[in-house]
Amino acid sequence: MSQNAFYGFETLAIHAGAAPDPATGARATPIYQTTSYVFDSADEAASLFNLQTYGYIYSRLGNPTVAVLEERVAALEGGRGAIATASGHAAQLLALFTLMAPGASFVASNKLYGGSVTQFSRTFKKFGWDCDMVDAEDLDAVREALAKPTTKALFCESLANPGGVISDLETLASLAHGAGVPLIVDNTMASPYLCRPFEWGADIVIHSTTKFISGHGTAMGGMVVDSGKFDWAQNDKFPSLTKPEPAYHGLVFYETFGDLALTVHGHAVGLRDLGPAMAPMNAFLAISGAETLPIRMERHVENAAKVAAFLNAHPKVAWVSYAGLDGNPYKARAEKYLGGKAGSVFTFGVKGGYAAGLKLVEACDLFSHLANIGDTKSLILHPASTTHRQLTEAQATAAGAGPDVIRLSIGLETAADLIRDLEQAMAGL
Ligand code: PLP
Repeated sequence: MSQNAFYGFETLAIHAGAAPDPATGARATPIYQTTSYVFDSADEAASLFNLQTYGYIYSRLGNPTVAVLEERVAALEGGRGAIATASGHAAQLLALFTLMAPGASFVASNKLYGGSVTQFSRTFKKFGWDCDMVDAEDLDAVREALAKPTTKALFCESLANPGGVISDLETLASLAHGAGVPLIVDNTMASPYLCRPFEWGADIVIHSTTKFISGHGTAMGGMVVDSGKFDWAQNDKFPSLTKPEPAYHGLVFYETFGDLALTVHGHAVGLRDLGPAMAPMNAFLAISGAETLPIRMERHVENAAKVAAFLNAHPKVAWVSYAGLDGNPYKARAEKYLGGKAGSVFTFGVKGGYAAGLKLVEACDLFSHLANIGDTKSLILHPASTTHRQLTEAQATAAGAGPDVIRLSIGLETAADLIRDLEQAMAGL
């Protein structure tokens, strides 16, 4: 489909990046299950390898099925280009790989998915990358961390997993830009249907497409989307994009590719050398999932609001952190950034703390006890003993995953059935 700025979100979710297959007329996007692509000539091969011609070489760097998903998610986010990866974590690695270097640092909100806290604060240290975790509500702390000369980026989640914290994207973008660095937003929990961070000044969006975009709990995947608007040459912080790249005969990515520099670098260097490419089959599943993202998100949110209201009124429930509920401290931000639709993943605590929480999780029948979110099926988890167990108690509590916290990802079943399941589980406490 030719990109048309006037198409609505639903149309883009179904058509962006895709066209009937020119060879066969197949209407669905074919799964190009191939590792490599025949060169027309030695000259064409040389030109492809020099990045002088756009085309396919080897599926670690790019694949036609994966490219459809890249274009689709870029269109849904209103971005310039995208890089698909094997998982959401690989997307974070790839985005930061272009910006970082040994001795460099980045600033991240401490309200993040537990796996991201571990990746940032432990594993990335092995590359010589430092992460300053800050309370993103403490703007002086954010400013101070951003002012460090080694800082290359500010990272947050639009709607944080699992605590339901909603970042003040507009303010964080302006603080990041004041320090000459991009704002990177993990938009996994909101999906581009509920929130488009570029509209609030973000520069790079990250997705775990494993979650709502793919939507059916069937395919791992990640995405880095670039707005194309950040000026990489405004300072000397980003030499990967602004200095000659020896592995491409001294090519300067920003000079050569302009607003596509980060996207091309992500494929031509990031995917080429780190290797976490998305599998074509997983791209196909995510493309199919993306087609129904708008209607799925509507029902996810509708069901979540009903379940949250039920829990909020239940005598055995101590608290519910759903930004759609009256009195929730993030309700105003849900209105501003999520169109009043507070997603479908939230946490609550039952009276009786850790032990009662675990008992409840085990007593659920329709809810599946597992470590994922954004599935059609409803999911339940005790983060402190699972996804956030690598964290110290202080880190887990800061991330909204303290000992009594139970996380729900509300799926697309009949809402009354979900409520009945929680009710029977609660009766046993
Ligand atoms: N970001 C968020 C908000 C997540 O919830 C997750 C996974 O749960 C990730 C990133 C990592 O994604 P993946 O599991 O696809 O690597």
